[in-house]
Amino acid sequence: MKTALITGANRGIGYEVARQLGGKGFHVFLGARDAQNGPAAAERLQENGAIATFVSLDVTDAQSITDAVHTVAGVADHLDVLVNNAGILLDEDVAIARLGIDTVNKVLRTNTLGPLLVTQAFLPLLSRSRAPRVVNVSSGGGQLSGGMDTWAPAYCLSKTALNAVTSLFAAALPNISINCACPGWVRTDMGGAGATRSVEEGADTVVWLATDAPVELTGQFLRDRKPIPW
Ligand code: NAP
Repeated sequence: MKTALITGANRGIGYEVARQLGGKGFHVFLGARDAQNGPAAAERLQENGAIATFVSLDVTDAQSITDAVHTVAGVADHLDVLVNNAGILLDEDVAIARLGIDTVNKVLRTNTLGPLLVTQAFLPLLSRSRAPRVVNVSSGGGQLSGGMDTWAPAYCLSKTALNAVTSLFAAALPNISINCACPGWVRTDMGGAGATRSVEEGADTVVWLATDAPVELTGQFLRDRKPIPW
């Protein structure tokens, strides 16, 4: 059976990706840091007929990542798909000139170092898949092409660096399909009610990269299933 781990999957885009992959017959490992919301989200997927297992996973905590590997390895002998989705946005209204280092540290630890460390930790299980795939949920806010604007500097920095993490892994591990995707502006707690896209639309490219995209496609940054400039 195909297996997938999604980080930050208790709500928002992560939950929707887990729901869609569960619907496609994956055994879904629902990664979440919250001891109440995580199991509750896994139960909702199970009620919809999916095979779903809650995995306690705080992507900023090295011990939690190690424990999550043991949890997944205790149930599955391989991992086909890793979706690094967990993310935070703390500095929407902060200018780069006043950006505090604590904010930068927190955002980078979650949005950039989290995916780096989680990917490293799950490589042994991924390498036992016949066609392993990693999808990093990035953002157009991290695009350098065309210049950046003034919005959310720590968040944008973290996503530019996440794109670099993606590129570096893709160069180093040609047997794994590793890409990053921008979901667009999505109606979640992070995106807000005024966003232009539903969670279904936001999850589409991520799920496609995790399933039906050509497995040779790697080291790309995509939106709406098409490569976009870095
Ligand atoms: P969201 O609704 O705020 O959900 C974020 C998820 O990340 C939650 O499940 C949250 O868990 C989890 N998370 C945060 N820190 C974590 C940690 N240290 N360990 C584990 N999980 C953690 O956000 P979203 O809109 O679904 O965003 C998902 C991804 O899409 C993010 O990477 C985001 O940057 C990206 N994105 C979103 C948009 C948008 O318009 N929404 C646009 C571009 C990119 P808790 O419930 O425990 O807080």
